Amino acid sequence: MQKHKIAIVGSGPAGLAAGIYTSRAEIETKIYAGLEPGGQLTKTTEIENYPGVIGKTGPELMAEMTKQAQKFGAEIIYEEVSDLVKLRESYDAVILAMGASPRLLGVGEENYWGKGFSTCAVCDAAFYRGKNVYVVGGGDSAIEDALALTKFASKVTMLVRSDKLRASVAMQRRLEQSEVEVKWNTQVVGVEGERVETLLVTQGDSDTVTRLPAEGLFFAIGHIPATKWLENEGILDENGYVVVNHEGWPTMTKIPGVFAAGDCVDHRYRQAATAVGMGVSAALDIERWMNENTK
Ligand code: NAP
Repeated sequence: MQKHKIAIVGSGPAGLAAGIYTSRAEIETKIYAGLEPGGQLTKTTEIENYPGVIGKTGPELMAEMTKQAQKFGAEIIYEEVSDLVKLRESYDAVILAMGASPRLLGVGEENYWGKGFSTCAVCDAAFYRGKNVYVVGGGDSAIEDALALTKFASKVTMLVRSDKLRASVAMQRRLEQSEVEVKWNTQVVGVEGERVETLLVTQGDSDTVTRLPAEGLFFAIGHIPATKWLENEGILDENGYVVVNHEGWPTMTKIPGVFAAGDCVDHRYRQAATAVGMGVSAALDIERWMNENTK
């Protein structure tokens, strides 16, 4: 019997976990690594909340996942793909696992990854014990991040660009009962220091810049799923996330043989561990689907 062939698009936790399972199941597996091989975890420092992993950094964990997939025969291709039709012609099935990127402002914060700037409070809050930190955003994520930070930081301030929150009422109630301070109508326009030391902010329509001393800066202003290339395929929701759970297959899109996993599907949990779980589910679904649907 000829070996089944699959393409996995994305080499973060979801894509690599799927690749470990499919290659181990003797499916010929090609993993297209994309522009950011290893995904968002390559931007973090120490991993503290991935079960069973102690004392490793994000890049180290991703390097090991990559090695593990290669050990079973998965081939990593350092290319970006942009044509789903072509992929479907060349492979028996496809797993979309391109992930998402946290939205940034481009006011200099990109220079402070691992130096006081983070987009994942769940990952990094514990590094801010006793510190004065700021969270930018007014949605559920911003409140969740601010509340997570109160367990460690000495002072948590949310910077909200308008005079209202986008977050759910339930989360707003939790915020009211917390010690988090909210500064309304406030925009971050710059960051200064060796590490994050000073935030430059403006208030309302005024151009006057105020300097706030800071020891940590978290952004929670939404994520952008890496799905632009799929805009005309009819498999995205209004926010650009891939829609799955079709015809009883929890990880399949409405295109037969096209599956998806990880942060390009999930705007809610967005954890490496949940992405791995979904990648494994997609691999198991695909194995069964191929046995039923391909020769
Ligand atoms: P979101 O709901 O889209 O909120 C994004 C926030 O960032 C808004 O306050 C927005 O302000 C602000 N923002 C966007 N661009 C900005 C900019 N350039 N400068 C300053 N602020 C900016 O995103 P999210 O909070 O990540 O939530 C995403 C989804 O996940 C939502 O459906 C949410 O309900 C869900 N979620 C749920 C929970 C929970 O239930 N516990 C936790 C996390 C996430 P404006 O309002 O002014 O646009």
